[in-house]
Amino acid sequence: MPIFYECQRCTACCRWPGQVRLTDAEIARIAGCLELSEHEFIQRHTRLTQDRRGLALQEQSNGACIFLAGNDCAIQSVKPQQCRDFPNLWRHPEAETQCRAIPHLVGDEEYVKQVAQVTGRTVESVRELLRSRQ
Ligand code: SF4
Ligand code: SF4
Repeated sequence: MPIFYECQRCTACCRWPGQVRLTDAEIARIAGCLELSEHEFIQRHTRLTQDRRGLALQEQSNGACIFLAGNDCAIQSVKPQQCRDFPNLWRHPEAETQCRAIPHLVGDEEYVKQVAQVTGRTVESVRELLRSRQ
């Protein structure tokens, strides 16, 4: 039975080291939401990824994501897919000790439906992604 993780919005995952990669579509969407041109958004809020092959969100001086404001994401409605997919479609060792998401054992269909809902993906794309990982 799959485990669906119910996020508690503690924002720990917005504070630990790492990088939030951005696609071109996400850059356009976030820039639009902030009423910035894509060029302005890239200059002000992004940096090169560690492999220097793309762009990621900048960090604050304490390492937290540039868009973490108190205990909220300042770009919640347009946040990158990488953020939406955590912690159900990807996890890493830090998640096991610091993420406060509540695990629920659910049936296969329920799992796909709930993951689609929290990630903003379609049910079909979640199914396809899970199939590709088998
Ligand atoms: S974009 Fe929002 S959800 Fe993603 S790491 Fe930054 S503050 Fe967190
Ligand atoms: S995914 Fe986990 S670490 Fe991130 S906000 Fe939700 S409960 Fe907190």
